[in-house]
Amino acid sequence: MNESLQHIASCVAGYDPQALPVASAQAFIARLTQPVQGTEHLSVRQALGRVLARDLVSPIDVPAHDNAAMDGYALRGLDLADDGPTQLPVVGTGLAGQQRAEPVPPGHCYRIMTGAVMPDGLDTVVPQEFTTMEADGRVQIPVGVVRVGDNRRLRGEDLALGEPALCAGRVLRPADLGLIASLGMAEVPVRRRLRVAFFSTGDELRSVGEPLDEGCVYDSNRYTLWGMLQRLGVDVIDMGVVRDDPQALREAFATAAACADAVITSGGVSVGEADYTKRIMSELGEVLFWRIAMRPGRPMAIGRIGDSGRQALLFGLPGNPVAVMVTFYAFVREALLAMSGAIVEPLPYLRAACANALRKKPGRTEYQRGIVSQRDDGTWEVRITGSQGSGILRSMSQANGLVVLHHHQGHVAAGDLVDVIPFDGLI
Ligand code: AMP
Ligand code: MG
Repeated sequence: MNESLQHIASCVAGYDPQALPVASAQAFIARLTQPVQGTEHLSVRQALGRVLARDLVSPIDVPAHDNAAMDGYALRGLDLADDGPTQLPVVGTGLAGQQRAEPVPPGHCYRIMTGAVMPDGLDTVVPQEFTTMEADGRVQIPVGVVRVGDNRRLRGEDLALGEPALCAGRVLRPADLGLIASLGMAEVPVRRRLRVAFFSTGDELRSVGEPLDEGCVYDSNRYTLWGMLQRLGVDVIDMGVVRDDPQALREAFATAAACADAVITSGGVSVGEADYTKRIMSELGEVLFWRIAMRPGRPMAIGRIGDSGRQALLFGLPGNPVAVMVTFYAFVREALLAMSGAIVEPLPYLRAACANALRKKPGRTEYQRGIVSQRDDGTWEVRITGSQGSGILRSMSQANGLVVLHHHQGHVAAGDLVDVIPFDGLI
């Protein structure tokens, strides 16, 4: 059963819709999200970036046998002398993929290649480079170059039979695809993709391809939103630009709520806005209008729209292009991941010395756009990208990270360490 927005508001610490701390808004939104139901089975490669729907339990031991971690000679640790070199005759060779049927007698060793199965009774591999071959064909091992058990990979040491190899909620990465393949699995259960509809509101907006009339701007938010949503791996439904017209807005919201799990709009949620967006949002669902203690991106609407049978989560983002992106990263990204069924990990911050002095009032969170680079001594530095106006999309395009000036933080002196969320990651 869905909690009412009023109930959630009463539970969230620091709830003040007129000056809502970022953390309170995030906590509020986290209570609104529920993972979508419905799973599909995909081949391993198709599952890249998808959310695992169930725990994957290993049906086998990986590796299936004890095997050599190095090219060299397998032996019994007990046969190693501790007061001088050891000499052992060699009985045969094991290549990866082969298994020796006859036992290796005590006092002998066995030439072995990386990945080859360890014959019964042998527990140690001495790497080839430590050994010399005697004229009589025995291998000589100097004292102290290997300890009992060295260079042996144990059966099941990667994944043991019956152990959860990956847990439900995992967003599958390249290593996970390999791990799944190592279990011999051809298919994996994943949650269905989240469906997200979005549109821009405003009479001044023109779409790419249309002439730019006097006083108008091209709609850029649908492009940044599309890009951010693609990166999250959701199904995207682009509903275009909707005019500030009650009937057009009503229809757009109703269509979006009927076909999507989440609806994102930009524009029309500012205080004192003369348009219809807010009115229609309230008409079609339970919607709150917030002023968030942040910069950029103060106004935002949040709620549920649609009929009681089928409701979509609504994110009414501000109109300014930078504010759209910042509010998306601050609130929408994590919410959509949670709705996709993903276990959401907080993004890691990079600590970088700020090259600029920054003025910052405690009591709100600020997101400045920065360019992070490494200094000659290996430490990180961040430089603010020119003008930080919330309409200046170039600041976002030039940046490679967001400098987060936290709620309680005050002015930053040049050289102070600040938190940065880098845009790019390894995987
Ligand atoms: P609003 O929140 O509707 O008052 O919009 C704030 C500012 O953002 C105005 O200058 C709008 O023209 C601009 N804006 C709103 N939507 C878009 C959009 N989709 N693309 C580019 N600019 C926009
Ligand atoms: Mg507007």
